[in-house]
Amino acid sequence: MSVFSSLIGQDHIVDQLSIAVSAAKSGTGSQAMTHSWLFVGPPGSGRSNAAIAFAAALVCKDNGCGKCVDCTTVMSSTHVDVERFNPTGLSIKAEEVRELITRSSWSPSVGGWRIVIIEDADRLTETAANALLKTIEEPESHTVWLLCAPTLSDVPVTIRSRCRHVQLRTPSTDSVQDFLLNQTKVDQKTAEFAARISQGHIGRARFMATNLEAQSRRKEVLSLAMSLSDIDRCFKVAQRVLDISEEQAENESAERDAQELKQLQDAYQGTGRGMISGGAKAVKDLEKEQKSSATRAVRDNIDAALLDIATFYRDVLVMQSKSREILNIDLQQEIMNYAGTTSPKRTLEQIDAVLNARANLARNAAPLATLEALFCALK
Ligand SMILES: [Zn+2]
Repeated sequence: MSVFSSLIGQDHIVDQLSIAVSAAKSGTGSQAMTHSWLFVGPPGSGRSNAAIAFAAALVCKDNGCGKCVDCTTVMSSTHVDVERFNPTGLSIKAEEVRELITRSSWSPSVGGWRIVIIEDADRLTETAANALLKTIEEPESHTVWLLCAPTLSDVPVTIRSRCRHVQLRTPSTDSVQDFLLNQTKVDQKTAEFAARISQGHIGRARFMATNLEAQSRRKEVLSLAMSLSDIDRCFKVAQRVLDISEEQAENESAERDAQELKQLQDAYQGTGRGMISGGAKAVKDLEKEQKSSATRAVRDNIDAALLDIATFYRDVLVMQSKSREILNIDLQQEIMNYAGTTSPKRTLEQIDAVLNARANLARNAAPLATLEALFCALK
């Protein structure tokens, strides 16, 4: 099965990428292949997966067969010539970009290409973007840069004007549902539910479909949003949503952090004073990195909660306009009751308030204050 078959609802770009792969291998210098690519698409549309599939197709002798050692190692991020940079912090620093540039200049070990994938290129700081600029403009002949970002405008114009663009679509609910039925063991009803509430976000759909805790957290967040009776309650709800997001982030990172520390201690042959030279500093650096990654995980989880709340108000509006096509099918009765108590105009204001809060969080606003302001506005 071709590596491109893992891209859900993206037939339009598979042609573009396949032609580029053939051109790259023909060695004719065809314009269909270029050295710098920018994959854009909404979160969860699979932009990183598209970049990874493209990388696999470039290094595979069979244009991305999906079975050979090259394909499987690219997919599992262990191929020697394909580096996948996934920023765990809130921003990508110039120092990190310079290290990537140095490694990208090495000759390929096995195939004809050395490929660097930068996920979340929208997190490049200005100095990092400047450091990357020259490399993207005049890349080594064997190097390919694949950047990923939500939209074109998230990437500095100097960078995006030097890249070929690959625009992903939000996959349809039906294609996400089919994906869940094929790739997980969930039943039809769960697949439909998860595909609907995640609105084309494949990772979230899979997580929701297969994780009971995530399902109950979503339910709690939505019932909290329906319980905003007075200001005191709004502040309590804000605190609770923050707590839920922190708990979730902690669950996600606890195991990973411990594992990373253990690897580092093994590398420096000990713990505390028993470590060989440089160990203490390495541990300090790791702890700093893990702290930054935890901050981001909390923000990501708050954003997921806000998205759930946005789908709730979207459904309320749908009910108020006498349609029945709601996303949160398990809460039909509650949504109908709520819809009867307010007006469509008010619902639109509430949707706006949620989107505003998400935008503020993306600009690094303080999480608790943002949530408090939001729930007071939603009351
Ligand atoms: Zn292959």
